[in-house]
Parts: sequence; C-alpha cells; structure tokens
Amino acid sequence: MRIVVLGGGTAGHAFARRARFFDKQVELCILDKDGLDQYSPCSLPYFIEGRTNAVDVYADYDRDNITYYRGYTPMKREGNTLVCSHPHKEPIELSYDVLVIALGSIPKRLREEYYYLKSYADAQRIKQLSSDVAILGGGYIGVELSLSFDFSVSLYEKESHILGSYLDGDMATLVQEYLVSQGVRVVCNFTDAPIEKNVICCIGFEPNIAPLKQLDISPITTDFFASQENIYIIGDCSQNKNMLTGNKEYAFLGGLAKKQGELLAQNLFSSTPTPYQGFIVNSITKVGELLFGTVGLTARSAKQAGMRVFSARFSGLDKYARLGGRKLVVKLLFLSDGRIIGAQIVGYADVSGRLNLLSYCMRMKHTVHQLALLDTCYNPDSADITDPVVGAALLGVKKLSVINR
Ligand SMILES: Cc1cc2nc3c(=O)[nH]c(=O)nc-3n(C[C@H](O)[C@H](O)[C@H](O)COP(=O)(O)OP(=O)(O)OC[C@H]3O[C@@H](n4cnc5c(N)ncnc54)[C@H](O)[C@@H]3O)c2cc1C
Repeated sequence: MRIVVLGGGTAGHAFARRARFFDKQVELCILDKDGLDQYSPCSLPYFIEGRTNAVDVYADYDRDNITYYRGYTPMKREGNTLVCSHPHKEPIELSYDVLVIALGSIPKRLREEYYYLKSYADAQRIKQLSSDVAILGGGYIGVELSLSFDFSVSLYEKESHILGSYLDGDMATLVQEYLVSQGVRVVCNFTDAPIEKNVICCIGFEPNIAPLKQLDISPITTDFFASQENIYIIGDCSQNKNMLTGNKEYAFLGGLAKKQGELLAQNLFSSTPTPYQGFIVNSITKVGELLFGTVGLTARSAKQAGMRVFSARFSGLDKYARLGGRKLVVKLLFLSDGRIIGAQIVGYADVSGRLNLLSYCMRMKHTVHQLALLDTCYNPDSADITDPVVGAALLGVKKLSVINR
C-alpha cells in the first residue's frame, strides 16, 4: 500500500511517523513545496529573537523510511494519480492508495510590502530588519514578536485590547501592561492608517484550501477526517468540531495538528477506529518572563455561541511569597449549572500544567463545584496552599450560589 501525504509540516509529519510506528511495510511518501526538512513553525519567533540558532528540525526521513519529495506541488489529480510540478525539475506522477492532505494555513495578507511570518524563509527576512518595527495584530504571534527586537517596537491592534481571540479584556490587560513595562508601544483601537516603518503583519491565518479545489477534493470531512474514499484532511486546513460550541471550525494550533495526524494514522491501522470527537482550544505562550494561555472559550466566543456565561477570577501565587512566589491569575468561565467552558491564566510559572488540567475538566464536562474539591499538592517552595485554580473554582461556586438562590 502506498500512502501519499501532501504537506510535510506538523500534521503531515506526525501522521507519517505514527503510520510508520504502526506499519513497517507501508510505503510512505511526503510531498512538500518547501525545500526544507520539517521544522517547528512555533520556534520562528524565538529564532528571530536569537534564542535559537536554527529552527528545530525534527524529521529523520531515512530512519523512518519515508520518501520525501522536496519542492513539489500537486497540480492535478486523475483518478488515484497526482501530477506534481517542481520549479526546476520535470513534473512527476505519483499514484496513491491513500491520500492525506496536510497543507496547513496561509497568513491573511493586507499589502504586498508588509512582512508576514509563516515559514523559515519569512523568519530569515524578518531577522534582517535593523530599524524600528511596527507589528500589525496583537494576537499570539504579534505579541511574541513584540519583544524579539533590540530596537523600538509598536504593536497595533484594531480591537480595544490585544489577544482578543484568547483572553478577555481584564486578563489581556495584564499582558498589555507587561509589554508596556518592557518598552513596547501598544496602540489599540487602531484603524488601518499607513505606518511608515517595517511592518510585520500578524493578523491571523486562513486554511490553505485553494489546492483542494484544484484537486477536486471537498474540504468537508467526517469525524474520521475523511473527505471522500481514501482521502483524508488533517491539521490547519481541516475543519473540525469545537467540543464546546458544537460548531465546525478551523483551529490553527500545532498541538492539534500533531494530534490529528497521529489519530488518523492510528485509525487507518486499527481494526477499531476512534472518531475524532473534536477539539478544545488549548494554547500558551511566553513573552519575556510572562506566561499566559487560554483553554476553551473566551467570554466573547461563549456569547457568540449563544451561551450565558459567568466568570470568577482569582489572583494567587505560584508558591509561598517569602520563597519567591509570584503572581498567578486564574479566570474561569462557566455556565449557570457550573459547567466549565473556559479558563485563562497569566503568571510566571506552572501555567501549562494548569491549562492541561482545565482542558481535561472541560472534555469531561466538569463543574466548578467538582473542581473546587480537587486535592492539591502543597509545599511552601513549590506550590501555594491555595491553588489558584481551586481558588477560582471556589469563587465560582460562591457566585453561583448567589445567582441560583
Ligand atoms: C510563527 C508561528 C508561531 C506559532 N506558534 C505556535 C505555538 O506556539 N503553539 C501552537 O500550538 N501553534 C503555533 N503555531 C501554529 C502551528 O505552527 C500550526 O498550527 C501547525 O504548524 C499546523 O500544522 P499543519 O501541518 O496543518 O501545517 P504546516 O505545519 O503549516 O504544514 C503545511 C505544509 O504544507 C506545505 N504546503 C503548503 N501548500 C503546499 C502546496 N500547494 N504543495 C505542497 N506543499 C504545500 C507547506 O510548505 C508546509 O510544510 C504557530 C505558527 C506560526 C506561523
């Protein structure tokens, strides 16, 4: 059997490696328009900042016995055969038994002269900048980049606060204040006026589904990632169910792309496939010393989904103050029956573990009442006696007891 994977990024590569794990015989081919081996796009802001010398390359195609067609783009599909072009070589024909599409996403673009960050080549261009920078878009990537340069940076956001897709205004303000304290000029409510500087445009991504049209493949998939017989779509270019809203959405996250690739491989080689029940957004990042992240819905996305949402926010410590404990702020969003549908955390340590715990709680449909009963560990030099997650849950229980009285 020959499996052809279109796109050798996070999802395509995770699929191929997991497929090889399950089956030593299957013929695996990856085709990618880039000439590079697979690397982590998530490292690009740190590469620009100079904290990593090169982006992490974590593919070993020889070890995994994967044939990698570098620099090829699929042009058309005739039955189970793809015709693929290369800028400097003759076109090739590649037949498949199973086709996996993992073509990722593309940055939303405003003007040609702007810089965009998606690929290693983009990062190398941005790394060459040597004078003041304007960043358009206060999402994760814009915020990550805002502390990456030695010269002056202005961050322009069209909404009333940065990180609007991830954090509510009160939590985003904590990050915004930190950026300002580090010398970033943050301009909110910005309406697209020309900026005469090096402009890096970070206004989000869209799924790379134009090639699907060209190959006559529908972007709509089942709970098993299938578009049509023997054709599957995973990663940023695949639309999946948001477990909290029930809506089919695109989620541009590396963790999800990897998970989808691995699950598809497991399903193809297992006699009892597992449906993909959907995703819960779970994301984290770090700027300077500050960590922040979000799980599930924000107040805005919950309202857009028609939910009546309540919140509780607890400002605690990651350990005993006299032993260097620092602020850790947890905000929980929940429904009137207590079911947790969102969480946001800003702090300096131990943020990812808490986000993952809360992601599990949301998947299991836990309530603030159940979370408030969590048995937590304690040691003055490691964890405060009131875990901020439990602190927020207790505040939520109190709030609901008043509301539901
Ligand atoms: C700067 C940056 C920082 C990020 N940071 C994080 C983070 O911290 N955490 C997180 O969870 N996510 C992060 N992400 C998102 C994450 O990188 C993506 O969600 C993830 O890489 C998606 O995986 P994918 O395989 O679907 O797409 P990609 O990894 O983008 O791979 C798609 C592949 O398809 C190839 N391709 C595209 N079109 C064609 C074509 N026509 N023919 C052949 N090949 C083609 C591309 O060259 C690419 O190799 C970040 C993204 C960027 C850009």
